[in-house]
Amino acid sequence: MALLWLLIFAGLCYFIGTGLARLGNTKNHEDILVDRINDCLPQTQCAQCDYPGCRPYAEAIAKGEAGINQCPPGGDNTIKALSELLGVEVIALNAAHGETKSAQVALIDEAACIGCTLCIPPCPVDAIVGSGKQMHTVIAEDCTGCELCIAPCPVDCIELVPAKPAATAWQHPAPRQLTQHQS
Ligand code: SF4
Ligand code: SF4
Ligand code: SF4
Repeated sequence: MALLWLLIFAGLCYFIGTGLARLGNTKNHEDILVDRINDCLPQTQCAQCDYPGCRPYAEAIAKGEAGINQCPPGGDNTIKALSELLGVEVIALNAAHGETKSAQVALIDEAACIGCTLCIPPCPVDAIVGSGKQMHTVIAEDCTGCELCIAPCPVDCIELVPAKPAATAWQHPAPRQLTQHQS
């Protein structure tokens, strides 16, 4: 009788263990897919895709909830990369999300800045430095040109200027194929 209980217990452990392992593998596969999609996105975190950042958009694409043509900063390069990665057709950028622009960075007119700090919270990459009632400045190397700091400025002292190639222009990463990450 004791042997029978031992066999039943061992069998239960086996089924629970293999079930958990399968669950873990599935989640891992989904995470890998999101990572690979995210690799195709320019990481400006501008939210023009209607998601709060690049990774949330990648998660929506992975779930089939978003199209591959909603990222204006990535433009045609991103669409092509996503089409290759996911095996779907290249389509045109959805103009409702904006247009693709050249790389740009924010520049603060420090003489006009009143130090209100309102531009700091919207910046998704912490590229603005300064403290209350003191002039603020943008760290060009960190700025993605997302434009999210422009509207909050009450004195319109932030403008966007063309980025120097070495400063902010992101290079589109070649998407690595999903299969390469399953090994
Ligand atoms: S529009 Fe593109 S760059 Fe901007 S947050 Fe969405 S995926 Fe990222
Ligand atoms: S400084 Fe402005 S444009 Fe640059 S990343 Fe921050 S919010 Fe975007
Ligand atoms: S929002 Fe404009 S005025 Fe206020 S700290 Fe930023 S740059 Fe200066």
